[in-house]
Amino acid sequence: MTAADAHSASTATPTWAQAGRQPRIAIIGAGMSGIAAVVKLQKAGYTDLTVYEKSDRVGGTWRENTYPGLSCDVPSRWYSFSFALKADWPHRFSYGPDIQAYMEAVANDFGVTRRVKFNTAVTDLTYQSPCWQLTTAGGQREMYDVVISATGILHQPVYPNIKGLETFAGAAFHSARWDHAVDLKGKRVGIIGTGSTSCQIVGAVTNDVSEMHVFQRTPHWLSPLPQKAYSPRWNKLLARFPFLQRIIYQFYYQLMVRTFSAATVGNKLMQRWMTKICLDHLADSVPDPVLRAKLTPDYEATCKRMIFCSDYYPALCQPHAHLVTEGIESIEPQGVRTVDGKLHELDVLVLATGFNAAAFILPTRVTGENGADLEQVWDGAPRAHRAVAMPGFPNFWMLEGPTGPVGNLSLIAISEHQVDYIISMLDRMKSDRLTAIAPTQTAFDRYNNAMREAIKSTTWVTGGCKSWYIDKSGLPNLYPWFPINYLKEMHNPEFSEYRLMK
Ligand code: NAP
Repeated sequence: MTAADAHSASTATPTWAQAGRQPRIAIIGAGMSGIAAVVKLQKAGYTDLTVYEKSDRVGGTWRENTYPGLSCDVPSRWYSFSFALKADWPHRFSYGPDIQAYMEAVANDFGVTRRVKFNTAVTDLTYQSPCWQLTTAGGQREMYDVVISATGILHQPVYPNIKGLETFAGAAFHSARWDHAVDLKGKRVGIIGTGSTSCQIVGAVTNDVSEMHVFQRTPHWLSPLPQKAYSPRWNKLLARFPFLQRIIYQFYYQLMVRTFSAATVGNKLMQRWMTKICLDHLADSVPDPVLRAKLTPDYEATCKRMIFCSDYYPALCQPHAHLVTEGIESIEPQGVRTVDGKLHELDVLVLATGFNAAAFILPTRVTGENGADLEQVWDGAPRAHRAVAMPGFPNFWMLEGPTGPVGNLSLIAISEHQVDYIISMLDRMKSDRLTAIAPTQTAFDRYNNAMREAIKSTTWVTGGCKSWYIDKSGLPNLYPWFPINYLKEMHNPEFSEYRLMK
């Protein structure tokens, strides 16, 4: 008899909350959210935790992305776990390897790593009231009282549907699958896409290549990134007085909420200010009026995800860099042919074409009450109740789930608040000896209808652009209100919105 069989045979036995035992909790993903979940759950007294990680290391997006120039445009002192502030960040905006090292260090220091089953992808989750049966790619089955999805948002690369892509004779790879065996030095390099990823890559590699061809479909708004290296003396001071780190953490939080987040959800003054910063940056960096015109967006700033990058424009101004704005007709063995008939000959082609943002926990098959299939329920437009739960999927929680990325806050902060919310739910299950908990359909509909109405007046919709925020519903998969409201939601759970099952 397997553990799963044994467990299902005993469903008549009291549940964890009724028996007063620890709930068995499975966490899917050992990235930033998974790490936050383990640390906070442990602290709250929930200690039967197993993390499933498809890869061989923790770190999530910071493990998966290794492209040159990889960095985070959220300030380091805020892009940190609140329970593990780090005095010695080397830079104001961290580079990918530093963040990956930090993720690994926190996971080790807080006892997360030892709870992780590495190289173990979860393929199926099936609700067998009141537990979940979890199946791995290796065919193992386990039963859990609670499942927390911490699978991240942008993890499934999107490959462009361009005729002839597979015929390219040189090296071609997606930005998230960087091929480090390919030396770019002296090569003719092409890059498709001009989002945050592309700008970081172009800024980092253009000096090394013989030709850089950037294929732009839409110009993006670019703000400069005030990068700087921290002095050892300053970092030592922060190590000595940790309260200073807390003040700085709060400072960045307030700064981002009051400027960037405000601009996206309707503060026109802030929006105009962001526009001016970007236009000034463009004017200061690009003297050639023709190139400048090509780089000037015709939609509102903050409509797409804003880019923060100081070395992209200077890279494009170099004589061996070419911004190609003609549409791509096809890809051929020698390079990229644009609609004007020109062949741009290349040795290497980088696809910085983004991710499938509607994936969340998919393609893991998640089957809830009455056989409901999460993929079918979502149908390409995932939504959730307060970004963390789904009606019909009891005892199943999501971190950074649908509408979770709240107004360009630090995703780490959002995950932490969401874990606090889940802990409130577990505490309630424990105190009321509940068997299961799930949002009601009515509460879900009310919340999502309000969201649908509110989002229509944000720049993500009114700004006149297309972006990865917008899903099959035609609306952005984002939180439309001020981030502070979301934090209030997370810290004042409305239990009346839930079916509290005895
Ligand atoms: P992205 O923002 O989705 O950009 C993809 C780019 O590829 C866009 O310029 C898009 O053009 C272009 N593209 C896609 N398909 C194409 C096609 N068939 N033909 C031509 N062009 C095509 O992807 P990303 O740059 O990887 O960034 C994704 C997100 O990751 C960011 O928005 C951000 O949230 C996050 N990120 C954050 C950081 C950070 O520092 N925090 C760094 C990197 C990424 P259109 O604009 O015309 O659609």
